[in-house]
Amino acid sequence: MKFRDLEKQYQAMKSDMDASIRAVIEKANFIHGEQVTELETRLAEYVGVKHCVSCANGTDALQLALMAWGIGKGDAVFVPDFTFFASGEVVCAVGAVPIFVDVRRDTFNLDCDALERMIEKVEKEGKLRSAAVLAVDLFGQPAQYDRIREVAGKHNMLVLEDGAQGFGGKIGEKKVCSLGDISTTSFFPAKPLGCYGDGGAVFTDNDEWADLIRSYCVHGKGKSKYDNVRIGMNSRLDTLQAAVLLRKFSQFVGWELGQVQTVAEWYDEQLKGVVEIPCILKGYYSSWAQYTVKFPTRESRDGAMHLLGENEIPSAVYYEKPMHRQKAFQEFQYNETDYLVSTELSQTVLSLPFHPYLSREEVTLVGKMIAEYAKEWL
Ligand SMILES: *Cc1c(COP(=O)(O)O)cnc(C)c1O
Repeated sequence: MKFRDLEKQYQAMKSDMDASIRAVIEKANFIHGEQVTELETRLAEYVGVKHCVSCANGTDALQLALMAWGIGKGDAVFVPDFTFFASGEVVCAVGAVPIFVDVRRDTFNLDCDALERMIEKVEKEGKLRSAAVLAVDLFGQPAQYDRIREVAGKHNMLVLEDGAQGFGGKIGEKKVCSLGDISTTSFFPAKPLGCYGDGGAVFTDNDEWADLIRSYCVHGKGKSKYDNVRIGMNSRLDTLQAAVLLRKFSQFVGWELGQVQTVAEWYDEQLKGVVEIPCILKGYYSSWAQYTVKFPTRESRDGAMHLLGENEIPSAVYYEKPMHRQKAFQEFQYNETDYLVSTELSQTVLSLPFHPYLSREEVTLVGKMIAEYAKEWL
């Protein structure tokens, strides 16, 4: 069993995919080929925003958004404490300070009460300007943007949506990557919509920010690539990856997104009452980047992981270390008591094999193994 079976996915679309890749190679238009523009158009249309600007990866996408807003020295950006490192890393990369915020125990996403408390704390200290909230759609479920927008609006802050894991998810009919003032995603192979290497994209309705991002991602270009009006970076999605994504996108919206809901239901059936299964809020749809359950203790979680491993069933701990404990952020001196939930989660969560090509038998096998284990240990 694979944690995420990209080989099966390739087999399901092999001949089309080979043809798409060959078409790029035969034309040798590796950078800025027509597939890049076509992909941007299709993704913007799907998400329901005016602009999609593709770039080299999901980390750059976040950084480009912060650059477009001119966020830097003296600014505070509020980031969930329970996420992938990149969500906090980019804040430091532009010279701003990441203020980590505890998360909800049920959804793993930003806790809006904790967000308000942290904003008030920063404003009381008066050293930093509260500039933006960087919300993450963890494991595929969108964060609570109605509340986040309300809090951000009250404090005159922008909202950046990190949809690296959430592409394909939605709240009501509003899709992930349309929920922030700027939203981003990643096409890293293991993400819900992944390419065959690295890739990312930025989404926004704002013309001015979109223009700035198109400039920043090609060396701060002005009228042309050789007219450079600002310091930028080199962050492009190449044509091969765009061709791969165009082919995968059809499969993604046509079948995979529906199938992952089914696989999640199979898991729910097996594991309900055994461990804590994922909680998806009413009206919210996850793209199921991960299927993550909670055990009562670290010992039981580690034990289950060990047992699965012995039976050649891969599982993973996302994330072993909350952001405030990462050495890279130590200079900021966070207060442990602000992060009780994320600390607990880091000790009790386990992500199980999950992808649209998983069979019901495989899910049953994993479920039965955890249920048997639970009888003895939980
Ligand atoms: C993967 C990921 C990123 C970074 O994406 P890359 O394409 O790997 O740079 C950022 N944020 C979150 C939440 C992610 O899961």
